[in-house]
Amino acid sequence: MADTSALVLFSGGQDSTVCLAWALARYERVETIGFKYGQRHSVELGQRGIIREKLARLGETGKRLGADTVLDLPALQSISDTALTRETEITFAATGLPTTFVPGRNLLFLTYAAALAYRRGINTLVGGMCETDFSGYPDCRNETIQTLAQAIGLGLASPMSIETPLMFIDKAGTWALAQTLGGDNLVQLIIEDTHTCYVGDRSNRHAWGYGCGICPACELRAKGWTEWQRQTN
Ligand code: ZN
Repeated sequence: MADTSALVLFSGGQDSTVCLAWALARYERVETIGFKYGQRHSVELGQRGIIREKLARLGETGKRLGADTVLDLPALQSISDTALTRETEITFAATGLPTTFVPGRNLLFLTYAAALAYRRGINTLVGGMCETDFSGYPDCRNETIQTLAQAIGLGLASPMSIETPLMFIDKAGTWALAQTLGGDNLVQLIIEDTHTCYVGDRSNRHAWGYGCGICPACELRAKGWTEWQRQTN
């Protein structure tokens, strides 16, 4: 069943939505998984259903969209002390990593996703990890992800590949990939419905979508949009 099905780590953000569209173009059956871990706002999670519904209606490949699973991981909150899960200022810590960093979060998410994928007869995971412009998160690096894929494959005694279509492209490249995958309709969906803002703002509408416009996630998204606009015009 190699390469006929995939499980996408889908948060409702821009990156994971592009990954979901990427998977729908490639695999006959695509399922999604999301995680609840005490995010201080659940805006992203709330957008997931809306995005899934729209993607299912976007072109022929939408029909490939299958089940969605949301796993509750409250334990993650009790071991993190970051801006994503507490009402603290988003600043850069002494390590150079943003305080939004949850140590090793992607390792946990991918391992849980692999366990679910195994149970559902899926041997490919798709995630939006990117080492290009993501503030140096060590658990987003290609070497980390591919080494984990090996460990998971050994641990399950069954191969599990981890595809990361955004690994080596920047935010402008992510917009360009969306355009290639689903044209203006997908770009429009990403602008209107995906959410990346760290503070959960959906009252300010910019050319690139909703957000506070000043947090690091908004800054990155806006910068990518501007750069992509510059490249295409
Ligand atoms: Zn923001």
